[in-house]
Amino acid sequence: MNSVAIYPGTFDPITNGHIDILLKASEVFDTVILAVAENSGKNSYFSIEERTKLCTIATKDIPRVQVKSFQGLVVDFAKTINASVMIRGLRAVSDFEYELQLALMNKKLCKDINTMFLVPDSKYLYLSSSLIKQITQLGGELDEFIPLCVKEALNNKHKILD
Ligand code: ADP
Repeated sequence: MNSVAIYPGTFDPITNGHIDILLKASEVFDTVILAVAENSGKNSYFSIEERTKLCTIATKDIPRVQVKSFQGLVVDFAKTINASVMIRGLRAVSDFEYELQLALMNKKLCKDINTMFLVPDSKYLYLSSSLIKQITQLGGELDEFIPLCVKEALNNKHKILD
């Protein structure tokens, strides 16, 4: 049977930490759907179209990965794409409590979908989309942590907003 996993998130913007998790997931599943959440309760810096496009460009060379955007509950979207596993990344201990709560709540909402946690390479352990936005706004260079398309998008956004 074709195994499908969903990797949901805000991806505002996608970083090399997210890509590291995707690469690991793509070695285990036949298909991994990177699912960009439209309304995650966060005010996003990039629009849903921009976030989805950046994810598509950044992952175009990873086999078995597709990018889609969704609205509403992630478990509902997971059912529509026949995903049986939800991938989440675990960085420092600080992620754990929130991620555990989310995993248990999602299990309650849909008993057929299990959460699988993957740990990134240690160089991405302290990397987050928020940190990337803050540092690039202050003029910092973070080439080793973000795809080139994200670097360009951040620079363009700053130019427009400055
Ligand atoms: P969300 O708003 O759902 O937390 P994010 O885009 O921030 O969405 O993250 C999506 C998933 O990727 C989460 O499970 C998060 O813990 C994980 N993640 C984010 N950054 C990294 C990273 N540097 N290394 C590994 N996992 C990460």
